[in-house]
Amino acid sequence: MTIQRTVKFLIAMATLIAVSGVGKAAGKLNVITSTEDLASIASEIGGDRITVEAIAKGYQDPHFVEPKPSFLLKLQKADLLAVVGLQLEIGWLPPLITQSRNSKIQEGNAGYLDMSQFCEILEIPTVQVTRAMGDVHPLGNPHYWLNPENGRRIAKAFETKLGEIRPADKAYFAERDADFAKRLTEAEKRWEAQMAPYHGRKVVTYHRSWPNFAERFGLVVVDYVEPKPGIPPSPAHTLDVINTMKRDSIKLILVEPYFDLRTPNSIAQATGGTVAVLMPSVGGVKEITDYFKLFDYDINLLSTAFAKSK
Ligand SMILES: [Zn+2]
Repeated sequence: MTIQRTVKFLIAMATLIAVSGVGKAAGKLNVITSTEDLASIASEIGGDRITVEAIAKGYQDPHFVEPKPSFLLKLQKADLLAVVGLQLEIGWLPPLITQSRNSKIQEGNAGYLDMSQFCEILEIPTVQVTRAMGDVHPLGNPHYWLNPENGRRIAKAFETKLGEIRPADKAYFAERDADFAKRLTEAEKRWEAQMAPYHGRKVVTYHRSWPNFAERFGLVVVDYVEPKPGIPPSPAHTLDVINTMKRDSIKLILVEPYFDLRTPNSIAQATGGTVAVLMPSVGGVKEITDYFKLFDYDINLLSTAFAKSK
């Protein structure tokens, strides 16, 4: 071989290796998450070393997602699957995981990451609750990502797990996690200041999505439009809610974007209150493109609503 031909040969080989992803520490890790909130935090930590995609959209009720064949394709290719846990996804995800036949992401294996084990969980029942009773929160409240402190813990868990799968990129993930935590602390100061004037304000919410958020930002959730998590409104319970709101002069009813507004609107009419659609997840509306924008959006909405109702 002449030198020229050798060079050509080497370039061709290098291209082949790059294209096929062979050699080096291989290509990007393929991370799949059950929700867009987890996907947002994963991409904060994984940066350009991962690809990440969520299964459920942020405008969907995460308890009740309709499974699609495309979900299966995502799971088949995943190196890591991160879930919220506490049975949030029990109605739709477990069969897809089994059907994917991807051994990495089966529960108990290294590529299955249940974030609930790292986070502060509220409303853990003291008596046994079953889903047969209609309660979709039998192990505690699964909407825990709505406190930034839990976001920080989720980020840390991604850092640890991604570092285990790709030890060569450990320092990279650690650096990104430190940066994320720092930006989150700065944002929290802003959010706290915005909410401070409304500390202790009472509200009614449709579903029990907000205990972690309420605890962090000083809201008091007094009642729910649903009689029980996962159970649609009933006339008797609706009357109770109206009476509670009148008694406590509560003026704000917060509704997640996937619920019917008829009952909340009728409660508002009976109490002189207003209905506001608060977003529980990244992707709830187009402009909420990441975990920071989720709190920006909700805290802007709340402070505006509270300012109007004095
Ligand atoms: Zn729920």
